[in-house]
Amino acid sequence: MTVDKVPGKNSVIFVCLNNYAGVLLKTPTKTLLIDPVDVKPKSFPQLDAVLITHEHYDHLDQRLIAELQKNTDCKVIADQTSAKKLSLLLPPDKLFETRVGDETDLGEVKIKTENCKHQASTPVTYIITSEDGMKIWHTADSLPFPEMAQIGKTEELDVVFCTVGIAPGTSPETGSQIAWLTKPKVAVPYHSNSVEPQKKFAQILKAELPKTTCVIPEINKVYQVSKGEKKT
Ligand SMILES: [Zn+2]
Repeated sequence: MTVDKVPGKNSVIFVCLNNYAGVLLKTPTKTLLIDPVDVKPKSFPQLDAVLITHEHYDHLDQRLIAELQKNTDCKVIADQTSAKKLSLLLPPDKLFETRVGDETDLGEVKIKTENCKHQASTPVTYIITSEDGMKIWHTADSLPFPEMAQIGKTEELDVVFCTVGIAPGTSPETGSQIAWLTKPKVAVPYHSNSVEPQKKFAQILKAELPKTTCVIPEINKVYQVSKGEKKT
């Protein structure tokens, strides 16, 4: 699966790649891959950056990342623990260790490293701001935490990915709390072995957050989100 489509102005494209937090994100000029596992390197002939949130097996595949980096010469941005592991395999000038509070520029695209409430060594989440100012928060496996409300208010998020299962303590309820705290235009329930928790998430959202659009992602399907509207 290769995604040739490029989003127009004021739009982004995303594709969920697996049952975890693997996401391909395209802005008008950049292609980012977050937590890739269970994917074929040749599906991604062109990448600007790979982002890693934490060291768990369903988020960090060191050999895959090394191959992707070699093929595309992309940057790799990773939390401290993952970066340490990756340092044995990647060219040092392409690997960027990140901590909460960091901001990384990728041309006109900005990547902000935020907190992650998850049982891993040094987990992080990423808020990506496109060149047109569209904001996407990939919350990795995070449980909701109170500061999410302030972040949601400050950032005015367009898309938020919300974990609804698999990770300890997570459920459709915790996922929908993330949506409720951050109040995005589009909420995407992910990190699930089946569609049931995602449907439950959608039900809760419909009742509690009617202005937010819920997109239950199909694996490998291309979704485009534009400022003020949603298309597929
Ligand atoms: Zn996970």
